[in-house]
Amino acid sequence: MLNIEAIRSQFPILAVKAHGQRLVYLDNAATTQKPLRVLDASRAYYETANANVHRGAHYLSGLATEAHERARRTAADFLRAPSPNGIIFTSGCTMGINLAAQTLAAWKGVRRGDEVIISADSHHSNIVPWQILCERRGLTLRVVPLTEELTFDEDAFAAMLSAKTKVVALPLISNALGLVNPLKRAFAAAKRANPRAVTLADGAQAAASMPVDVQELGCDFYAFSGHKMYAPMGTGVLWGREELLEELPPWLAGGEMIREVTFEKTTFNALPFKYEAGTPDVEGAVALAAAMDFMREIGMQNIHGHEAALTAALFDGLSALPGVRVLGPRAPRGPLVSIAAQRAHPYDIGALLDQMGIAVRTGHHCCQPLMQRLGITGTTRFSLGVYNTEEDVRAALSGTERALAMLA
Ligand SMILES: *Cc1c(COP(=O)(O)O)cnc(C)c1O
Repeated sequence: MLNIEAIRSQFPILAVKAHGQRLVYLDNAATTQKPLRVLDASRAYYETANANVHRGAHYLSGLATEAHERARRTAADFLRAPSPNGIIFTSGCTMGINLAAQTLAAWKGVRRGDEVIISADSHHSNIVPWQILCERRGLTLRVVPLTEELTFDEDAFAAMLSAKTKVVALPLISNALGLVNPLKRAFAAAKRANPRAVTLADGAQAAASMPVDVQELGCDFYAFSGHKMYAPMGTGVLWGREELLEELPPWLAGGEMIREVTFEKTTFNALPFKYEAGTPDVEGAVALAAAMDFMREIGMQNIHGHEAALTAALFDGLSALPGVRVLGPRAPRGPLVSIAAQRAHPYDIGALLDQMGIAVRTGHHCCQPLMQRLGITGTTRFSLGVYNTEEDVRAALSGTERALAMLA
């Protein structure tokens, strides 16, 4: 059992009154709150170690460089990556997927007629970068549909695979529906169809809620955002398999990513610096590592167990409400539940819940094609974090029941 009160006391923002009510924060899939430990790490960095990294031959620059590289090692451990050299610090999952897609777009290993496979429950940031790659290099984008039960259609996926499969990019947990997709099996199948296929896991929703092992998952890239896992806005990681990163061209160009520059020719720096042009967000990396330490000390399995129990209660409670359709299967599911109500617009439900102090997300959740397929304009999404309690779930259930009664 987790000591939730001790965890909650790490998050001063949870004491904020929303419209005079106890705050019930159930919008963790959009962003999580930040514990004192993360806020303290940001401040301590600026108070004791701030300088530009690598360049200065002075004391503080050494401290800043060491702090940045220590954060990289923490991130590698967090993902069980074989070495810190595959850890590229980014501004978030969107930048990570764009980095992968644009680098592949400049790669000679991609040929006209090759195919990129994504899934119907993809976030816009796992759709649009691939559309751009396809347009630029003459590839075809294929979309794995969902089954009737709203799960990843593995048969349809298997039928799409061929020697032309060049990229398979899938969300580990979908942000709109909460589905946990069978990425390990999917990536293994992709590699059987084409050993040179590049696999990318969108880990934005998984990073805070389940232990991840990028080697076991069989991905070449793993992207996530810091702000959805208790770290500051504007932080994130793209992990890439080293052999692939060695082969791919650089992306952003500038300082630090070079080894030697003349006006005739430039040679590029070793990994991971080849992909980190310019002055990095050292404070962000340090705070991101503090968030990883925070989660590791609680235990990813403990976090997962706590959130899974609350998610099941939320799923069952919402399913029991008349006129409510809970989208997707009960399990396996990440810590979020999305509903469509027969007679109420998601926006109205969200606005009424807000008046009760309950923060949820309404709308298409950056998944417009999915909403079109489901024939709805949007959902009301309840998403959990480590600091949520049974009381929060009860408040969400009774609040939704009241909101639906008011809107009937
Ligand atoms: C939030 C999210 C993204 C994009 O993350 P940003 O933090 O906005 O860059 C991508 N994929 C999924 C599944 C997400 O939930």
